[in-house]
Amino acid sequence: MEVITKISEMQTMVFSIKDRKESIGFVPTMGALHEGHVSLMRSARDENDELVVSIYLNPTQFDNKEDFDNYPGQLDKDIEIVERENADVVFAPCTDEMYPEGFCTYVTQDKLTDTMCGRLRPGHFNGVTTIVTKLFNIVKPDKAYFGQKDYQQSVVVEKLVADLNMEIDVKVLPTVRDEDGLALSSRNKRLNPEERRSALCIYSSLLKAKSMFASNVKDAKEIIEEMTSIIKKAKHTRTDYISIVNAHTLEDVSLINEKAVAAVAVWIGNTRLIDNIILE
Ligand code: AMP
Repeated sequence: MEVITKISEMQTMVFSIKDRKESIGFVPTMGALHEGHVSLMRSARDENDELVVSIYLNPTQFDNKEDFDNYPGQLDKDIEIVERENADVVFAPCTDEMYPEGFCTYVTQDKLTDTMCGRLRPGHFNGVTTIVTKLFNIVKPDKAYFGQKDYQQSVVVEKLVADLNMEIDVKVLPTVRDEDGLALSSRNKRLNPEERRSALCIYSSLLKAKSMFASNVKDAKEIIEEMTSIIKKAKHTRTDYISIVNAHTLEDVSLINEKAVAAVAVWIGNTRLIDNIILE
């Protein structure tokens, strides 16, 4: 496995892969890898000739300096994890490489980024669409793998690819959870044991939404009220949003009569976690 830190070296590698007419599967990550990332790597490994994994903590998608400064970093361990999954290349550039002095071009997206995390984290999705575009231009993947855990991100990336005519097949894979249901996240490492227990309210609230919907409750407000009360009862919680949105447009729905997503963003102490469940 090659570890590449320079864009020019990555481009040379991609050129020779394309020359061999091999397909590239790509998993972009911010590191602190866990089984959620591993599941993306395994699918990408199965479905492509070459597997490229990027590890890059992208500063432009952080709206909160403390979150960026405290984001767990473990590059050596991450490289071992990626190697175990038989990847061909780890692309781990530094910020001077990705955003050299004088950088001033950004990719922005309207509408899909006006709600949910986009509304509460100004600039976040501009950072995401910019870095994803740059990585796609450098790695030139045939298929790129994302997690349903970041539901809004996956919809934003699918639309980015469609609107800008990128010939990339975006795959969105299910959320990997701990045994008790908490969605795996690099930020879970920051929870102390009591907060870790409180964080379970997130999945409980999503299961409640799913069971209410299954028993024919279609009124989003009614479901959101129940979810809110579950999250409020847990210690150390502060809700950013609890939304039920159309699965494609991400607009709030009042009556669920099409595929929808119940999505939450909750602070547990000083750690902000997100999760979602599909209602259909
Ligand atoms: P991140 O390193 O947090 O930027 O995540 C990199 C990719 O892994 C994104 O596409 C995430 O949606 C995905 N991912 C993160 N957590 C999980 C999870 N628990 N299950 C599945 N995919 C995940």
